[in-house]
Amino acid sequence: MLLKGYRLAIQHVMFIVLMYGGRFGVNLGPAVPCFACPYVTGCGGYCYLMGLQGYIGFGISLGHFWGFEGLRALGYLLLFAGLVMLLGKAWCGFACPFGLISDWITLARRRLGIPEAKIPPAALRRLGAVKYALLGFCAAGPILVNLGVLHRDFYIPFCQMLCPGKPLLPLFAGETRHFALDLTNAATLVITASSLAVTGACLAAMIARPRFFCTFCPMLALIHLLKPITPLALRKNPALCHGCGTCQRVCGMDVERVCTEKASADVQTGDCVNCGDCVAGCAADGALSLQFAGRTVVSSSAGLALGLRKPRP
Ligand code: SF4
Ligand code: SF4
Ligand code: SF4
Repeated sequence: MLLKGYRLAIQHVMFIVLMYGGRFGVNLGPAVPCFACPYVTGCGGYCYLMGLQGYIGFGISLGHFWGFEGLRALGYLLLFAGLVMLLGKAWCGFACPFGLISDWITLARRRLGIPEAKIPPAALRRLGAVKYALLGFCAAGPILVNLGVLHRDFYIPFCQMLCPGKPLLPLFAGETRHFALDLTNAATLVITASSLAVTGACLAAMIARPRFFCTFCPMLALIHLLKPITPLALRKNPALCHGCGTCQRVCGMDVERVCTEKASADVQTGDCVNCGDCVAGCAADGALSLQFAGRTVVSSSAGLALGLRKPRP
């Protein structure tokens, strides 16, 4: 419970920094490893997915990759990798504004006593592969634009068409303009209609399941691909596990492996957002831990689990 409380507090501080930081002179730059959206006026940092599409996609396809643009793209890539090395997937569990909005919706659903929609774990794992396809789309989309396959108005196609953060996050800065259809031409109509349809579907699904969009998020895919350079890790000592299943029950992402793994210490799957709820919920002393560079930051214990072991509605 204590750990969950700290996490909530950190999430809210990061929400203020990433959503409003620019208004008081704080900006983490254009390579932030979570949905810190540049469509929010006065935000405190920009999601790297926009850079991935803009700098790398256009850099490669316009042949600028070895010039100043190439150096700039490399610089942002290194900055992104550095930020991932610092916090790993804790950017998702502790810092992402869109992740916090998702958690607010889940909290409201539970308060209203609405049960969570269930998806079989095998189906969830298959759905999780979609995030890698979306990551490929982020990189390939701008190249298709420069090859003339896509209209030039699709210049950052993931942000424009598929990211629910683009219309939803600016709402917290009082901006509703991304909820309008753009009738300039057929391409802008497709872009804005797609954005509204995806956002509506995501909102409905986020009410039904916690962190639903995170299952499909290309940022999570990208951070997971950098797992070998990430010091922050979720570890398990299978010998200390009781097999009670609490870790999976409290996990918003419904990660099964934390509970079922019987041999390996590495239980950080591609869908894990490193929120630490399983560590906080597990009552087996030392069975689960969050570690940084091999050192335990926090580990499970009966005391830590108090108040968190009730099954989710
Ligand atoms: S996976 Fe979820 S928490 Fe992580 S960047 Fe994507 S939306 Fe944010
Ligand atoms: S909550 Fe702890 S003891 Fe229970 S299954 Fe998960 S790791 Fe094992
Ligand atoms: S496995 Fe644990 S750390 Fe990962 S998302 Fe689930 S509860 Fe959070």
